[in-house]
Amino acid sequence: MLELRSVTAGYARNEPAFDDVSLTVAPGEAVGLVGPSGCGKSTLARVAALLHRPDSGTVILGGEPVRHWRHRAPRAQRTAFGVVFQQPRLSADPRLTLGDLIEEPLRATGRRETAQERVAELAGTVGLTQDLLGRRPHEVSDGQLQRACLARALTLRPRWLICDEMTAMLDASTTAALVAVVESYRSATGAGLLAVGHDRTLLERWCDHTVRWENLTASPTPGNSL
Ligand code: ADP
Ligand code: ADP
Repeated sequence: MLELRSVTAGYARNEPAFDDVSLTVAPGEAVGLVGPSGCGKSTLARVAALLHRPDSGTVILGGEPVRHWRHRAPRAQRTAFGVVFQQPRLSADPRLTLGDLIEEPLRATGRRETAQERVAELAGTVGLTQDLLGRRPHEVSDGQLQRACLARALTLRPRWLICDEMTAMLDASTTAALVAVVESYRSATGAGLLAVGHDRTLLERWCDHTVRWENLTASPTPGNSL
Protein backbone atom coordinates (compact mmCIF):
# COMPACT_ATOMS: atom_id res chain seq x y z
CA MET A 1 0.00 0.00 0.00
CA LEU A 2 0.92 3.62 -0.53
CA GLU A 3 -0.58 5.60 2.29
CA LEU A 4 -0.49 9.26 3.20
CA ARG A 5 -1.54 9.60 6.80
CA SER A 6 -2.52 13.02 8.19
CA VAL A 7 -0.08 14.79 5.93
CA THR A 8 0.49 18.53 6.02
CA ALA A 9 2.82 20.00 3.42
CA GLY A 10 3.80 23.29 1.86
CA TYR A 11 6.63 25.64 1.14
CA ALA A 12 8.97 27.37 3.55
CA ARG A 13 7.54 30.37 5.36
CA ASN A 14 4.16 30.10 3.61
CA GLU A 15 0.89 28.68 4.86
CA PRO A 16 0.75 24.92 4.27
CA ALA A 17 -0.57 24.06 0.79
CA PHE A 18 -2.82 21.55 2.58
CA ASP A 19 -3.39 20.30 6.08
CA ASP A 20 -4.13 16.87 7.52
CA VAL A 21 -4.82 14.93 4.34
CA SER A 22 -5.02 11.14 4.30
CA LEU A 23 -5.17 9.01 1.17
CA THR A 24 -4.50 5.36 0.38
CA VAL A 25 -3.68 3.67 -2.92
CA ALA A 26 -3.62 -0.14 -3.01
CA PRO A 27 -1.40 -2.10 -5.39
CA GLY A 28 -3.21 -2.41 -8.71
CA GLU A 29 -5.66 0.31 -7.80
CA ALA A 30 -6.19 3.52 -9.77
CA VAL A 31 -7.18 6.47 -7.60
CA GLY A 32 -8.13 9.80 -9.15
CA LEU A 33 -7.92 13.04 -7.21
CA VAL A 34 -9.79 15.97 -8.69
CA GLY A 35 -9.74 19.57 -7.54
CA PRO A 36 -9.47 23.16 -8.72
CA SER A 37 -6.23 24.83 -9.68
CA GLY A 38 -4.11 25.95 -6.73
CA CYS A 39 -5.72 23.70 -4.12
CA GLY A 40 -2.55 21.68 -3.51
CA LYS A 41 -2.87 18.66 -5.80
CA SER A 42 0.60 18.96 -7.29
CA THR A 43 2.15 19.30 -3.87
CA LEU A 44 0.26 16.22 -2.71
CA ALA A 45 1.38 14.33 -5.83
CA ARG A 46 4.98 15.25 -5.08
CA VAL A 47 4.64 14.09 -1.48
CA ALA A 48 3.09 10.80 -2.67
CA ALA A 49 6.01 10.35 -5.11
CA LEU A 50 8.45 10.97 -2.22
CA LEU A 51 9.73 14.11 -3.96
CA HIS A 52 8.55 16.61 -1.32
CA ARG A 53 8.99 16.12 2.38
CA PRO A 54 5.80 16.64 4.38
CA ASP A 55 5.85 19.11 7.28
CA SER A 56 3.95 16.62 9.41
CA GLY A 57 2.21 13.30 8.99
CA THR A 58 3.59 10.12 7.50
CA VAL A 59 3.97 8.46 4.12
CA ILE A 60 3.74 4.70 4.52
CA LEU A 61 5.04 2.43 1.80
CA GLY A 62 4.53 -1.31 2.07
CA GLY A 63 3.65 -0.94 5.76
CA GLU A 64 6.81 0.99 6.65
CA PRO A 65 6.94 4.73 7.30
CA VAL A 66 9.26 6.47 4.86
CA ARG A 67 12.23 7.84 6.83
CA HIS A 68 15.46 9.71 6.24
CA TRP A 69 13.91 12.46 4.15
CA ARG A 70 16.04 15.37 3.07
CA HIS A 71 13.93 17.53 0.77
CA ARG A 72 13.07 14.18 -0.88
CA ALA A 73 13.09 10.63 0.34
CA PRO A 74 16.14 8.45 -0.35
CA ARG A 75 16.59 7.47 -3.97
CA ALA A 76 16.32 3.75 -3.21
CA GLN A 77 12.68 4.32 -2.30
CA ARG A 78 11.95 6.85 -5.03
CA THR A 79 12.86 4.39 -7.76
CA ALA A 80 9.62 2.53 -6.96
CA PHE A 81 7.79 5.55 -8.44
CA GLY A 82 7.29 6.75 -11.95
CA VAL A 83 6.12 10.31 -12.14
CA VAL A 84 4.64 12.29 -15.02
CA PHE A 85 3.94 16.00 -14.66
CA GLN A 86 1.91 18.40 -16.75
CA GLN A 87 5.03 20.21 -17.89
CA PRO A 88 7.86 17.95 -18.91
CA ARG A 89 10.67 18.12 -16.36
CA LEU A 90 13.46 16.39 -18.05
CA SER A 91 17.03 17.34 -17.61
CA ALA A 92 19.24 20.32 -17.11
CA ASP A 93 21.13 19.19 -20.21
CA PRO A 94 19.32 20.34 -23.38
CA ARG A 95 21.56 18.19 -25.59
CA LEU A 96 19.98 14.96 -24.41
CA THR A 97 17.72 13.30 -26.98
CA LEU A 98 14.39 11.71 -26.12
CA GLY A 99 16.15 8.33 -26.26
CA ASP A 100 18.81 9.55 -23.80
CA LEU A 101 16.12 10.83 -21.47
CA ILE A 102 14.26 7.53 -21.48
CA GLU A 103 17.53 5.73 -20.78
CA GLU A 104 18.70 8.09 -18.03
CA PRO A 105 17.03 6.34 -15.08
CA LEU A 106 18.92 3.14 -16.04
CA ARG A 107 22.21 5.00 -16.15
CA ALA A 108 21.46 6.71 -12.86
CA THR A 109 20.93 3.31 -11.22
CA GLY A 110 23.93 1.69 -12.93
CA ARG A 111 21.95 -0.61 -15.20
CA ARG A 112 23.30 0.34 -18.60
CA GLU A 113 23.71 -3.14 -20.06
CA THR A 114 20.02 -3.56 -20.86
CA ALA A 115 19.45 0.06 -21.77
CA GLN A 116 19.17 -0.16 -25.56
CA GLU A 117 16.58 -2.92 -25.58
CA ARG A 118 14.60 -1.27 -22.82
CA VAL A 119 14.53 2.08 -24.64
CA ALA A 120 13.41 0.39 -27.87
CA GLU A 121 10.70 -1.51 -26.03
CA LEU A 122 9.44 1.64 -24.28
CA ALA A 123 9.48 3.62 -27.53
CA GLY A 124 7.20 0.99 -29.02
CA THR A 125 4.95 1.09 -25.96
CA VAL A 126 4.42 4.85 -26.10
CA GLY A 127 4.51 5.15 -29.90
CA LEU A 128 7.77 6.96 -30.57
CA THR A 129 9.66 6.23 -33.79
CA GLN A 130 13.43 5.81 -34.02
CA ASP A 131 13.59 9.22 -35.68
CA LEU A 132 11.85 10.88 -32.74
CA LEU A 133 14.11 9.10 -30.22
CA GLY A 134 17.07 10.86 -31.84
CA ARG A 135 15.58 14.33 -31.47
CA ARG A 136 15.90 16.78 -28.61
CA PRO A 137 12.94 18.07 -26.58
CA HIS A 138 12.75 21.39 -28.46
CA GLU A 139 12.54 19.50 -31.76
CA VAL A 140 9.32 17.60 -30.99
CA SER A 141 5.68 18.42 -30.21
CA ASP A 142 4.25 18.63 -26.69
CA GLY A 143 2.51 15.31 -27.24
CA GLN A 144 5.66 13.57 -28.45
CA LEU A 145 7.60 14.97 -25.50
CA GLN A 146 4.94 13.80 -23.06
CA ARG A 147 5.11 10.32 -24.62
CA ALA A 148 8.83 10.37 -23.83
CA CYS A 149 8.13 11.54 -20.27
CA LEU A 150 5.73 8.65 -19.75
CA ALA A 151 8.25 6.19 -21.20
CA ARG A 152 10.90 7.58 -18.86
CA ALA A 153 8.57 7.18 -15.91
CA LEU A 154 8.18 3.50 -16.83
CA THR A 155 11.87 2.81 -17.47
CA LEU A 156 12.58 1.29 -14.06
CA ARG A 157 9.27 -0.64 -13.96
CA PRO A 158 7.82 1.30 -11.02
CA ARG A 159 5.30 -0.22 -8.66
CA TRP A 160 3.56 3.14 -8.33
CA LEU A 161 2.69 5.70 -10.96
CA ILE A 162 1.95 9.29 -10.05
CA CYS A 163 0.41 11.33 -12.86
CA ASP A 164 -0.02 15.05 -12.17
CA GLU A 165 -2.18 16.64 -14.90
CA MET A 166 -0.41 14.32 -17.34
CA THR A 167 -2.74 15.11 -20.23
CA ALA A 168 -3.72 18.72 -19.49
CA MET A 169 -1.75 20.07 -22.44
CA LEU A 170 -2.62 17.31 -24.88
CA ASP A 171 -5.27 16.78 -27.55
CA ALA A 172 -7.95 14.13 -27.17
CA SER A 173 -6.24 11.44 -29.20
CA THR A 174 -2.87 11.79 -27.45
CA THR A 175 -4.69 11.86 -24.11
CA ALA A 176 -6.45 8.60 -24.96
CA ALA A 177 -3.18 7.04 -26.15
CA LEU A 178 -1.28 7.91 -22.98
CA VAL A 179 -4.09 6.80 -20.67
CA ALA A 180 -4.14 3.51 -22.58
CA VAL A 181 -0.39 3.08 -22.07
CA VAL A 182 -0.75 3.63 -18.33
CA GLU A 183 -3.67 1.22 -18.15
CA SER A 184 -1.91 -1.54 -20.06
CA TYR A 185 1.18 -1.09 -17.88
CA ARG A 186 -0.98 -1.34 -14.79
CA SER A 187 -2.80 -4.43 -15.93
CA ALA A 188 0.49 -6.10 -16.88
CA THR A 189 2.33 -5.25 -13.65
CA GLY A 190 -0.27 -4.62 -10.95
CA ALA A 191 1.15 -1.17 -10.32
CA GLY A 192 -0.94 1.33 -8.35
CA LEU A 193 -1.81 4.73 -9.78
CA LEU A 194 -2.54 8.12 -8.31
CA ALA A 195 -3.75 10.50 -11.02
CA VAL A 196 -4.41 14.10 -10.01
CA GLY A 197 -6.03 16.73 -12.18
CA HIS A 198 -8.89 19.15 -12.69
CA ASP A 199 -10.75 17.15 -15.37
CA ARG A 200 -13.27 15.17 -13.40
CA THR A 201 -14.81 13.48 -16.43
CA LEU A 202 -11.45 12.13 -17.57
CA LEU A 203 -10.42 10.94 -14.10
CA GLU A 204 -13.75 9.25 -13.43
CA ARG A 205 -13.52 7.38 -16.72
CA TRP A 206 -9.88 6.46 -16.14
CA CYS A 207 -9.72 5.53 -12.45
CA ASP A 208 -11.33 2.86 -10.25
CA HIS A 209 -12.52 5.64 -8.01
CA THR A 210 -12.10 9.36 -7.92
CA VAL A 211 -11.83 11.46 -4.78
CA ARG A 212 -12.78 15.12 -4.74
CA TRP A 213 -10.25 17.38 -3.05
CA GLU A 214 -12.94 19.04 -0.89
CA ASN A 215 -13.89 15.68 0.59
CA LEU A 216 -10.31 14.69 1.20
CA THR A 217 -9.44 17.78 3.19
CA ALA A 218 -12.77 17.98 5.03
CA SER A 219 -12.65 14.31 6.01
CA PRO A 220 -12.57 13.87 9.79
CA THR A 221 -11.26 10.30 9.55
CA PRO A 222 -8.31 8.91 7.61
CA GLY A 223 -9.07 7.23 4.31
CA ASN A 224 -10.68 8.17 1.04
CA SER A 225 -14.05 9.72 1.50
CA LEU A 226 -16.22 9.86 -1.57
P1 ADP B 1 -2.54 22.54 -7.70
O1 ADP B 1 -1.67 21.43 -8.23
O2 ADP B 1 -3.82 22.04 -7.13
O3 ADP B 1 -2.73 23.63 -8.70
P2 ADP B 1 -0.24 23.28 -6.06
O4 ADP B 1 0.13 22.12 -5.21
O5 ADP B 1 0.58 23.53 -7.30
O6 ADP B 1 -1.79 23.19 -6.44
O7 ADP B 1 -0.19 24.60 -5.19
C1 ADP B 1 -0.73 24.67 -3.87
C2 ADP B 1 -0.30 25.98 -3.21
O8 ADP B 1 1.11 25.95 -3.01
C3 ADP B 1 -0.60 27.22 -4.04
O9 ADP B 1 -1.00 28.22 -3.15
C4 ADP B 1 0.72 27.51 -4.69
O10 ADP B 1 0.84 28.89 -4.95
C5 ADP B 1 1.72 27.06 -3.65
N1 ADP B 1 2.98 26.62 -4.27
C6 ADP B 1 3.11 25.67 -5.22
N2 ADP B 1 4.42 25.50 -5.53
C7 ADP B 1 5.11 26.37 -4.75
C8 ADP B 1 6.50 26.67 -4.59
N3 ADP B 1 7.45 26.02 -5.29
N4 ADP B 1 6.85 27.61 -3.68
C9 ADP B 1 5.91 28.25 -2.94
N5 ADP B 1 4.58 28.01 -3.05
C10 ADP B 1 4.19 27.09 -3.94
P1 ADP C 1 19.24 12.71 -6.49
O1 ADP C 1 18.58 13.83 -5.72
O2 ADP C 1 19.36 11.43 -5.71
O3 ADP C 1 20.49 13.10 -7.20
P2 ADP C 1 17.32 13.27 -8.51
O4 ADP C 1 16.04 13.47 -7.79
O5 ADP C 1 18.10 14.47 -8.95
O6 ADP C 1 18.23 12.31 -7.64
O7 ADP C 1 17.03 12.34 -9.75
C1 ADP C 1 17.95 12.08 -10.79
C2 ADP C 1 17.21 12.13 -12.11
O8 ADP C 1 16.10 11.26 -12.09
C3 ADP C 1 16.69 13.51 -12.41
O9 ADP C 1 16.89 13.77 -13.78
C4 ADP C 1 15.22 13.45 -12.05
O10 ADP C 1 14.44 14.31 -12.87
C5 ADP C 1 14.89 12.00 -12.32
N1 ADP C 1 13.88 11.49 -11.40
C6 ADP C 1 13.90 11.59 -10.07
N2 ADP C 1 12.85 10.97 -9.52
C7 ADP C 1 12.14 10.47 -10.57
C8 ADP C 1 10.96 9.71 -10.68
N3 ADP C 1 10.29 9.31 -9.59
N4 ADP C 1 10.52 9.37 -11.91
C9 ADP C 1 11.19 9.75 -12.99
N5 ADP C 1 12.33 10.46 -12.96
C10 ADP C 1 12.81 10.81 -11.77
